[in-house]
Amino acid sequence: MVKANENYLKLPGNYLFSTIGKKVKEYQEKNPDAKIIRLGIGDVTQPIAPAITDALHSAVDEMGSADTFKGYAPDLGYSFLREKISEMDFKQRGCDISPDEIFVSDGAKCDCSNIQEIFSLDNKVAVCDPVYPVYVDSNVMAGRTGIYDEIAQSYKDVIYMPCTADNDFVPELPIETPDLIYLCFPNNPTGAVIKKDQLQVWVDYANKNKAIILYDAAYEAYISEDDVPHSIYECDGAKTCAIEFRSFSKTAGFTGLRLGFTVIPKELEAGGVGLWSLWARRHGTKYNGAPYIVQKAGEAVYSEEGRKQIKSQIAYYMENARYIYDGLKAAGYDVSGGVNAPYIWLHTPDKMTSWEFFDYLLTGANVVGTPGSGFGPHGEHYFRLTAFGNRENTLEAIERIKKL
Ligand code: PLP
Repeated sequence: MVKANENYLKLPGNYLFSTIGKKVKEYQEKNPDAKIIRLGIGDVTQPIAPAITDALHSAVDEMGSADTFKGYAPDLGYSFLREKISEMDFKQRGCDISPDEIFVSDGAKCDCSNIQEIFSLDNKVAVCDPVYPVYVDSNVMAGRTGIYDEIAQSYKDVIYMPCTADNDFVPELPIETPDLIYLCFPNNPTGAVIKKDQLQVWVDYANKNKAIILYDAAYEAYISEDDVPHSIYECDGAKTCAIEFRSFSKTAGFTGLRLGFTVIPKELEAGGVGLWSLWARRHGTKYNGAPYIVQKAGEAVYSEEGRKQIKSQIAYYMENARYIYDGLKAAGYDVSGGVNAPYIWLHTPDKMTSWEFFDYLLTGANVVGTPGSGFGPHGEHYFRLTAFGNRENTLEAIERIKKL
């Protein structure tokens, strides 16, 4: 008799954003005149920049002509894009990453959830707490986490690394030694960053313990301070212990277009097995590449015009972040993040739980945010707001919150 993958049954309750969506829908139905402002889900609102839509249009025209039509893309992605990434994202920052160490994909979410497939089920996983849920859930589905403990709100076999105000939301080295370490900086949900010397400690630790760091740098483009690394490969020795994920979603508004990439250095090994060739094999077997037109759009992100335009979009969001941060501070909230990341992380007042604060904000100010407890037990009593709204809504939301 056929059996389902019962690991899926270990996933608790509702997905965070479906629960939020349901609550907001119910509230809107009861209060049809309420003008709800959504600063919850991390989706962008600015349209694709003109240099990028121009590239898309001309790529579409190429697809409509017999002599320029393109079918399946090369396994690792088109070299015109991988060469730009290698040069501008890595070599110009002093990181020796070659085009053939870059695997183009349709986004970071699928890569950072699929990557665990090339590792043994025996590996012990360490994650930050709070955490972007994809890292944990993908390991649950694979059967690497053990059962869920409802009371502790955590999986038995996962190492959770608390990220709290006391450690500036940067985890300390765990007591138990992990094999796979997920790190995400700038961080979703806390908006925290890791300094280069702090990241070097993790790289040295991973090399010493023969562990692999899975480094999610989806928000790299939001870094504004000098001593914050844009890539883990800025650290000495990272090529023997780290895989890096990048995304065009928040960098250039590609959440609906879909483009990202993963870097696996050729020398990276797990127990003597080269990981580049395992991922190449997986990519070739299970994936047929990001569309040509989207990869051409990605190339335009690196053009002079494209860079100028996305820089101004990021500046727009980061100005929103400053308004949120300053407004909340002025209203007496304890806030962090928002300087090198589009996320503002606030401590809920009066010992409210994250969900109590969600209801308080929804009903009192008609503003939607994300309860920190949805990202892990150490997210309890915290709340995430995003800077991805438009300016008018962002300012209005802050004014409403100030009046609560
Ligand atoms: N990684 C982090 C930390 C994210 O917050 C997100 C999106 O919210 C992603 C990855 C997913 O990026 P993509 O849209 O490229 O799949």
